[in-house]
Amino acid sequence: MRLSNFYLFTKKENPSDAYLASHKLMVRSGMIKQVATGIYSWLPMGLMVLNKIKEVVVEHHVKSNINEMLMPTIQSADIWKKSGRFNDYGKEMLKIKDRHNNDLLYGPTNEEMITDIISDDLKSYKDLPKLLFHVQWKFRDEVRPRFGIMRCREFLMKDAYSFDLDYDSAFFAYCKMFGLYMKIFKTLGLKVIPVRAESGPIGGALSHEFILESNEGESDIYYDNRLLNISIDQVNLDNKAEIKEYYEAVTNLYSCTSDKHEELNFNKNVPKDNQKLSKGIEVGHIFYFGTKYSELLNANFTNNNGKEALIHSGSYGIGISRLVGAIIEANYDEKGIIWPKEVSPFQLGLINVRNDNQVSLNFCESYYNNNASNFKILYDDRNARIGEKLNNMDLLGIPVQIIVGEKNLVNQNLEIKDRKTGKVNLVNIEKLQSYLSDNYEF
Ligand code: ATP
Ligand code: MG
Repeated sequence: MRLSNFYLFTKKENPSDAYLASHKLMVRSGMIKQVATGIYSWLPMGLMVLNKIKEVVVEHHVKSNINEMLMPTIQSADIWKKSGRFNDYGKEMLKIKDRHNNDLLYGPTNEEMITDIISDDLKSYKDLPKLLFHVQWKFRDEVRPRFGIMRCREFLMKDAYSFDLDYDSAFFAYCKMFGLYMKIFKTLGLKVIPVRAESGPIGGALSHEFILESNEGESDIYYDNRLLNISIDQVNLDNKAEIKEYYEAVTNLYSCTSDKHEELNFNKNVPKDNQKLSKGIEVGHIFYFGTKYSELLNANFTNNNGKEALIHSGSYGIGISRLVGAIIEANYDEKGIIWPKEVSPFQLGLINVRNDNQVSLNFCESYYNNNASNFKILYDDRNARIGEKLNNMDLLGIPVQIIVGEKNLVNQNLEIKDRKTGKVNLVNIEKLQSYLSDNYEF
């Protein structure tokens, strides 16, 4: 992408209402624009990152044989009246009336709708188990929207749902999703702590939150730091025994969100040296809620003895749009964002030191024209001062920058800057490709 062709308008000033670094940086780097309290437009740069994160999450689900579908944002109130949550969900739910005076709502989550769908299709024990997911916008009329897209009103969530014939089978689905989440967060380059959680308004027996450690996080967590030694890498998500062994190893160690009662247990159960108190951002949440929704919405099946039984279900959410902010909170410095390569909107930033120099201009044009199909390059081809170009590229956070100037070109050299370390290396043009693949796995 040539910057001259890109709808990108970076800002020098921080927005006056922003507290978190991620909020400031997303606005300054032209990723988002607020259109109403807690409602944002995603501009091209922001959408590229949002799509990348979504892609990682979707790919992991599809690889695990979880079927993608899409449910609408607007839902009929009927199913919510049946479950009782039309009233119980509270003021967070945005209720709407259509022209015929029917009650509709903008979905804050999808347990009712998915249970209604599957109750028509899953009839026999032979139809189970099933796992489905979608990625869709949600609306929750939060009391106090804040922190930019981290706690907003309209946000993008991946929500998956499991349907099983009994507790054992449903518990396995839960463990598998637990492992899948740990793999997803690892792929995104994030250190995420799974903690035992209260299940809140969704209700149910078993629940974990996935917390990205951050000093600015809203959740207080306690955990046994031996958790960090258990790796998900070698766990095969198609192997029941391996998944259960992993889940047990992790959940045998103490981890929880904070309250007085948990604090006592924590001190009693975790050796002093392993106690870790921390703060973080909730990026995912999983629930097993047994037969709660099946009972309310009549989702039953015929078991292998010919008897009617209720389907066991669970739901599994990841805050896709919140992750954009959370990833920035974990990856920035005073100059701007530092994208991990997995979610970076571009792989390479290309900067021409002086546009009026024919030699450097020729090099940049031919490098961009020959490589734009191999790499995703953001080429700053504007006729701007070099200081401005360098600051801008640092703000945008692309992991590697190629800085092209006439002095170095005389010796066939380029400056390659690593955004994270700030280190600049002189690299010969001939060796550029191998330098990039050796250092950045391109
Ligand atoms: P929180 O405790 O942060 O309010 P929640 O427990 O109400 O979140 P869930 O119902 O568990 O949220 O939703 C699944 C995921 O959706 C959360 O883990 C979070 O990443 C994301 N999410 C929830 N509410 C918001 C919001 N207002 N803005 C952005 N993302 C959100
Ligand atoms: Mg939650």
